[in-house]
Amino acid sequence: GELLRVEGLKVAVEGKEILKGLDLQINAGETHVIMGSNGAGKSTLFNAVMGNPKYVVTAGKIYFEGRDITEEPVNERAKSGIFMAFQAPISVQGITVENFIRNAKGTITGQSQRIMPFRKKLRQQMDQLSMDRSYAERYVNDGFSGGERKKAEILQMCMLEPKLTMLDEIDSGLDVDAVRIVSETVAQYHNETNSILVITHHSEILQKLKPDFVHILINGKIVKTGDASLIQEIEANGYDAFKELAR
Ligand code: ADP
Ligand code: MG
Ligand code: MG
Repeated sequence: GELLRVEGLKVAVEGKEILKGLDLQINAGETHVIMGSNGAGKSTLFNAVMGNPKYVVTAGKIYFEGRDITEEPVNERAKSGIFMAFQAPISVQGITVENFIRNAKGTITGQSQRIMPFRKKLRQQMDQLSMDRSYAERYVNDGFSGGERKKAEILQMCMLEPKLTMLDEIDSGLDVDAVRIVSETVAQYHNETNSILVITHHSEILQKLKPDFVHILINGKIVKTGDASLIQEIEANGYDAFKELAR
């Protein structure tokens, strides 16, 4: 069934219109990729779907499982099963990775998480991600390298089990081993009931995630949607050929 539907979405950031009438539909079980040059509005789309109040919807609608969520706050959307891994995750002082994720899981599910079973699952996921278990006791992203921050985002995804996961350049700044581990972890998490939406500039992660649809976002609109073969087309020719479609 339908998971996310975005209709005629216009979004302004700091008074400037960034998204200019964007349409997108994602069904359960699908993997979609958004590609587009820097500044096209890709991260803006993710922030708007997540409900970041800095990103003001000036027109259009966002539906999740058929429900209009356009006006819903972030925490409600998270409870509904929407998750976003940030392009540049920030550090949070004073709260450990384990407590951060355990609190989030408790809030999202409405059930407080018992420490020992939670810790057991967390450790399994950290092992899979090749994250040292000691990171669970460190403050969120405090002193983490770029790659470790990205892994911590994926760890959250694994533990929170969202229906819709939005990954914003999860593969940038990662070494080859980390790209492989992160890609495999996301691919393993993906199933027929959840959906993955990815922003990337690299084809490596896409070889593992096997996208069903590729969308090209230029100047605030999706100008072309195709299958995975679009990725090779973009790698060979860049975005120039698609810019005509943006007008
Ligand atoms: P992309 O992810 O495609 O590279 P973004 O969505 O991050 O592009 O940015 C699109 C445009 O919106 C850019 O011009 C950017 O400067 C602006 N923008 C995005 N987020 C913010 C923000 N939080 N504050 C100010 N400007 C922003
Ligand atoms: Mg799939
Ligand atoms: Mg971006």
